[in-house]
Amino acid sequence: MSSASNRMPENLGGLGNNMSGDGVSTSSMARSAPRPRKNTGTPPANRKLFKCDYCSKEVTNLRVHLRVHTGEKPYSCQYCQKSFSQVNTLNSHLRVHNGEKPYSCDICKKSFAYLYARNSHRRIHTGEKPFACEICGEAFTYRYTLKTHLAKVHDQNVNAAVSAPSEDPGGGSG
Ligand SMILES: [Zn+2]
Ligand SMILES: [Zn+2]
Ligand SMILES: [Zn+2]
Ligand SMILES: [Zn+2]
Repeated sequence: MSSASNRMPENLGGLGNNMSGDGVSTSSMARSAPRPRKNTGTPPANRKLFKCDYCSKEVTNLRVHLRVHTGEKPYSCQYCQKSFSQVNTLNSHLRVHNGEKPYSCDICKKSFAYLYARNSHRRIHTGEKPFACEICGEAFTYRYTLKTHLAKVHDQNVNAAVSAPSEDPGGGSG
C-alpha cells in the first residue's frame, strides 16, 4: 500500500531545454532522411586486379601480361620452335601440328583449326562478300582476294599486313 520508492524519474537530459514540448527534435528527422547510396563502380568480382604500368590495363596476372610489353616469349613450340608470350596462344598454335580442328562448318561439315578460318570459309556458302573495292565497288569474299584485285587491276600497292595468311580458306588435305 505504501510504496516508499515511488519517486519520479529524474530528468536524464540534464540541461532541460525542451520544456515546451513543441515537437520532436530534429535528430529523429535526420534518421529517416534518405541517405545517398555510394556507388563506387567496383565490379562484384572478387579476384584481385593489377594495374599495368605500361598500358594502364588491369589484369589478373601482371607477370604474364607484362610479356606483351617486354617481348618475352617463354612458350616455344616443340615442333617448329615458334615462340609465344601466352600459353593459350601456344596451345591454339599446336593445332596446326596435331591436326586438331575444333571448328566445323555447319553446312558442309568441313573442319578448321581456327575460328576465323571457319568463318571466312563459311562465306562460300552464304555468298557474303564483306571486302569491297573502294575504287570500282567490286566485292570479294576474302581480304587477300581484294588485295590481289587492288594490285592487279588498279595497281595499288597495299603495304598493310600483306603477309597476313589469316583469310586462307584452308588446306583441304582431306
Ligand atoms: Zn600492359
Ligand atoms: Zn609450331
Ligand atoms: Zn562449309
Ligand atoms: Zn576494284
